[in-house]
Amino acid sequence: MPRRRAFLEEEIRLATPRSRAQWERGKESMPGGVIKGAYWSSPHPIYVERAEDCYLWDLDGHRYVDFTNHHTAMVLGHSPPTVVEAVNKAVAQGLGFGAPSTLEAETAEEIVNRFPSIDKVRFTGSGTESSIHATRMARAFTGRPKVAKFEGAYHGSHDALEISTSPDIARAGSADSPASVASWPGMARGAEDDVVILPYSQRESVELILREHKDEVAAVFFDAKAGIYDLDPDFARFLRDLTRELGMVMVMDEVVSFRAGYSGYQGVVGIEPDLTLFAKIMSGGLPGGVLAGKTELMDMLDNSTGATLNQSGTFSGNHLTLAAGLATLRALTPDVYRHFDVLRERMISGLERLFREAGVQAQVRGLGSIVSFDIGDRPTGDYRTLVETDRDTADLIRMEVLLKGYFIAAGLGLCLSAPMEIEHIDGLVGAIGESLAAE
Ligand code: PLP
Repeated sequence: MPRRRAFLEEEIRLATPRSRAQWERGKESMPGGVIKGAYWSSPHPIYVERAEDCYLWDLDGHRYVDFTNHHTAMVLGHSPPTVVEAVNKAVAQGLGFGAPSTLEAETAEEIVNRFPSIDKVRFTGSGTESSIHATRMARAFTGRPKVAKFEGAYHGSHDALEISTSPDIARAGSADSPASVASWPGMARGAEDDVVILPYSQRESVELILREHKDEVAAVFFDAKAGIYDLDPDFARFLRDLTRELGMVMVMDEVVSFRAGYSGYQGVVGIEPDLTLFAKIMSGGLPGGVLAGKTELMDMLDNSTGATLNQSGTFSGNHLTLAAGLATLRALTPDVYRHFDVLRERMISGLERLFREAGVQAQVRGLGSIVSFDIGDRPTGDYRTLVETDRDTADLIRMEVLLKGYFIAAGLGLCLSAPMEIEHIDGLVGAIGESLAAE
């Protein structure tokens, strides 16, 4: 394995010298040579010159079929013409106003009409900001001090929720009653104490933990990890019922799981959370986030009557993001989701066949426009099973397929985009097959 890794890293270095040079240059002025942590990948990041449809072109002239889609955001592919047109029109009106425009109500109504659980909408600067505000709102609404979240879930980069996102198992307590582990040094003292950690998929344990903390927990944050974990749809319904009974705010994180269906994962399983968080797709691939939900909660932000809480932000709900988000929502029709159904099932059956024929124990699953595979013998239903999977081999596969023109990343699954066709799916499955044969 170490030899194969060394070989692939060298192949990538040889194939992408311009990217290498950019990374070397960047090391002088940016930590690790990159502008943000997520851009790091071994042996060096691949620098992109342009992107269109489902393709990325790097500095060395290679074309990749992009199964990462800008951290899942570009569900319509890169530079979809109607979104580009809407953004260009907005740019011609002005880059930003610091005052509202007619795009506000149009966008908010589009979201309200699409999600039965949503009465009112606010835009924020990112998914992270949305979850910060949701935390405050839930605490203020219930008067309770803590929030609960699931082990392995990420709701943004801040001290209230960046707890047990990928804890070291040695420090993470038992599987049915996970410990609260701060993800990074330097987080606020007491941050861990204000977060109750729940195990995915284990109903009895979740019920026991939430009942035990019923007077302290203001909200349960839930990301269904649609297409990433293998979750029983009943689990979300159970969680909805339990949070309602215990007077906890159910906050559904649809930042990624909006990819599950026309009305997100909540639409797939037929539940109405109290608050929903969005970003990525909802801001049309531009920076932004959305915080939305039931009137009684959202009206805590009503400045006209003297808000309980203020939610704002210089770039929240900026003109360009609203234009991109609205155009994206309008283009994301049920037909697009039907197209994803075809691509996804093709990918799942192709990958299952590959692993079967190669005699490799693997778990393949998908929902909406995300497909995931793990090398391991147990269904990936929670963080604990995920960490047991063979992630070294998965990373070798990433490098092998990169050399064959396919861009994939660990963690957020294989993301489909609307311009993809069967040939792109078969191409990736074929490339993964060749990689398995090379092991
Ligand atoms: N929630 C989920 C499920 C995410 O995947 C992310 C980011 O990847 C966030 C929240 C945070 O969103 P943002 O990166 O816009 O702050």
